[in-house]
Amino acid sequence: MPQNLSMFSLEGKTALVTGANTGLGQGICTAYAAAGANVIGVARRSCQETAEKIVSLGGNFTEIIADLSDINAIPLILQKAESAYSRVDILVNNAGIIKRCDAADVSMEDWDSVININEKMVFFLSQAFAKNWIADSKGGKIINIASMLSYQGGIRVPSYTASKSAVMGLTRALANEWAKYNINVNAIAPGYMATNNTQNLRSDEQRSEEILDRIPAGRWGTPEDITGAAIFLASDAAAYIHGFTLAVDGGWLAR
Ligand code: NAP
Repeated sequence: MPQNLSMFSLEGKTALVTGANTGLGQGICTAYAAAGANVIGVARRSCQETAEKIVSLGGNFTEIIADLSDINAIPLILQKAESAYSRVDILVNNAGIIKRCDAADVSMEDWDSVININEKMVFFLSQAFAKNWIADSKGGKIINIASMLSYQGGIRVPSYTASKSAVMGLTRALANEWAKYNINVNAIAPGYMATNNTQNLRSDEQRSEEILDRIPAGRWGTPEDITGAAIFLASDAAAYIHGFTLAVDGGWLAR
């Protein structure tokens, strides 16, 4: 790699990515492996497909099965990560769920399920890694996956909007406290990407058309589309970037 591009390399780093079995998480895992990182994927189901993609690139992948709706899973995640690699350098808080429902009908159970994964786990998993990084003074990178609904209200997804708005706020709040420890906390706000998360939306012909009409790039995004931003924010090239949410949205927010 030319010297001026080596700042984008993840060679020798270890990254832990949540929600690694599919969609954007799988795309990020594969891209990190291609950029030289050892990858630990956390998921509630097997990450076999992700593992196969990484092994075919000659990379290293370790799977941790955990239910991220419960913060009691954190000690096990830390322990398994530590037994695989001496240090995790990059944390990507990608796992997330969405529940579509009129605001008037949202149940407390559904509200909690979205907030627990999308917001509470993001905070406490970040806290767990940051404590280690503060203790060993070697810094680290946290990349949170935000959303267009970190900026906008959305339609029939109030718990999701609340959680993703919180993700952007937390990204700033944690950066303010941890930048001095060389911990970069940033976020990526994907636009409308073709994954399981948007399956229902894409099956609704009218909503799908409305969305597509509004995307200046004229197409839904793919997991590959966010990999450049994910590598950049995890790399030395982003050393002085703190608390920023980078939209990868085909121009959606520019409209
Ligand atoms: P996805 O294919 O549904 O991926 C979500 C991931 O989170 C899956 O790996 C899922 O595992 C995992 N997950 C959900 N609940 C979990 C739990 N309790 N424990 C462990 N893992 C759990 O959708 P995606 O689009 O790739 O979503 C990734 C992130 O991007 C999410 O935070 C989402 O909100 C965000 N995002 C997506 C879009 C978009 O347009 N697609 C836009 C903005 C933001 P399972 O497969 O087992 O459910």
